[in-house]
Amino acid sequence: MKLLIARPMTPVVEARARAEFDVEIRENTLPMSQQEMLSALAEFDVVVPTLGDQFSAQIFADAGSPQCKLLANFGVGYNHIDVQSARAAGVEVTNTPGAVTDATADIAMTLLLTTARRAGEGERLVRAGQWQGWHPTQMLGHHVTGKRVGIVGMGRIGQAIARRCHFGFGMQVAYQSRSAKDLDFAAEFTPDLHKLAASVDFLVLAVPGGAETRHLINAQTLEAMNLSAILINIARGEVVDEAALISALENRQIAGAGLDVYEFEPKMPQALCEMENVTLLPHLGTATEEVRSNMGHMALDNVAAFVAGRALPNPV
Ligand code: NAP
Repeated sequence: MKLLIARPMTPVVEARARAEFDVEIRENTLPMSQQEMLSALAEFDVVVPTLGDQFSAQIFADAGSPQCKLLANFGVGYNHIDVQSARAAGVEVTNTPGAVTDATADIAMTLLLTTARRAGEGERLVRAGQWQGWHPTQMLGHHVTGKRVGIVGMGRIGQAIARRCHFGFGMQVAYQSRSAKDLDFAAEFTPDLHKLAASVDFLVLAVPGGAETRHLINAQTLEAMNLSAILINIARGEVVDEAALISALENRQIAGAGLDVYEFEPKMPQALCEMENVTLLPHLGTATEEVRSNMGHMALDNVAAFVAGRALPNPV
């Protein structure tokens, strides 16, 4: 059984992979090229791909009958893999749910607090040597405690964010999802996204990417938001119409944005980089050693189950 891992992993995950499997670990940290994906499907039994490796319908069409039978994706989001085409080509897909939940919720709160309290702007001011000292109206931001947050996508991460907002910050939680959730804390199910957008101080996105949620947040949603509201996106860049977001920020239709993901990442629109009221992170959601190791172990657990002929723990 030949395994290809598409990126360098944490030392503990690489050590396990080398001990348990006949593995090749790609040294490049950039996404695989089309040619690399085709060779991987032809030459390996299992591939561990990740974000940026675009296993599209075209790739599977070009691959014909691949040698590869499992894409054990490193990450919970798998919108870069055309799962239907993979299945049609006899390739199963698994992901790493759960391992990423708390770390990603923590980054959502980091973005929410940083944007609301102007922490990025303040840090830049201090580092630039331009701080002239405290005064009662210096850099006033948006109060967070007790405010109303709207969560779009009340799954594992959405609920972890909601818990932090409710228990940690005494916020009122409202949410939109495909279905209402049975929760152990107060949260108002608001199925109409526009009503939710219009009623909150913070709108936090935690849905999966893909065709169904592409541009879920568009010019109309942004227009529905309050002038003082802040948009937070830890989901996928494509969930937000980035051009519409830039124009909403430029026109002061919303007060700010905190972003971990971008529509065309890693390409960054210059306009966003020049705005003080946005917080921009380089897709840091799961970026801790522990979490990346847990994700790697989960991906390898799926590989091990496949090799042993057992049921896959995390099929998508
Ligand atoms: P999850 O448990 O599957 O939750 C997704 C939620 O989105 C579910 O509640 C689902 O609703 C809802 N949803 C799906 N399609 C929807 C739609 N069209 N409209 C409204 N709601 C919809 O997934 P998760 O583990 O929370 O992860 C969510 C996403 O976060 C991932 O897919 C990934 O793209 C992203 N993520 C980002 C980072 C990062 O580094 N920034 C890290 C990890 C994950 P129902 O429950 O009602 O079906």
